[in-house]
Amino acid sequence: MAYPEPLEQLIASFERFPGVGRRTAERLAFHVLREPSARELAGAIERALRETRLCRECCNVARSSPCELCADPKRDSTLICVVEQPKDVEAIERARVFRGRYHVLMGALNPAEGSEGEQLFVAPLVERVARGGVAEVILATDPDAEGEATARLVLEALAVLEQPVRVTRMARGLPAGSAIEYLHRGVFEDALEGRIELRLTRRPAPGA
Ligand SMILES: [Zn+2]
Repeated sequence: MAYPEPLEQLIASFERFPGVGRRTAERLAFHVLREPSARELAGAIERALRETRLCRECCNVARSSPCELCADPKRDSTLICVVEQPKDVEAIERARVFRGRYHVLMGALNPAEGSEGEQLFVAPLVERVARGGVAEVILATDPDAEGEATARLVLEALAVLEQPVRVTRMARGLPAGSAIEYLHRGVFEDALEGRIELRLTRRPAPGA
């Protein structure tokens, strides 16, 4: 027996979430229907969609575009720290060791899943650096396999630029396999100070 159409649609919506299959989508849909706070959830989703946007500079989720960090004239716009997730920006900001700007990729490369990073905000970063005024791009992706693969992807993408930019990787003291969001101030300080320069091999832009 088919479900009522509105329920089918709810299930189909859940199914579009990453990692959610049909069975999980059904479970979530039935849970939502029985959950007293479901209306609140619906309202929260609508409000978040209405009142947040992606910053056109750094691709972070913010209330305005450009976001507060990108609009702050006191921050060094020549330094861009590239992170995987918005929560990484929070973690580095909490540590108060970095006074430059950020770029959020909104994820990491997952070689095991065969993704090639097309969903990541790499192109906006390349465009941003191509506009000029950037002296250094610091790759602060997680020190795990996905993060390393992501850092390589970004490095390769930046290699098409006419004007080469200095690309570094946060390094010293970053425990292998850890996540940026859980690190403490001292670790960030060391990692920033001990960042290592990555070599860019220039290659022609596609189609050039
Ligand atoms: Zn921003």
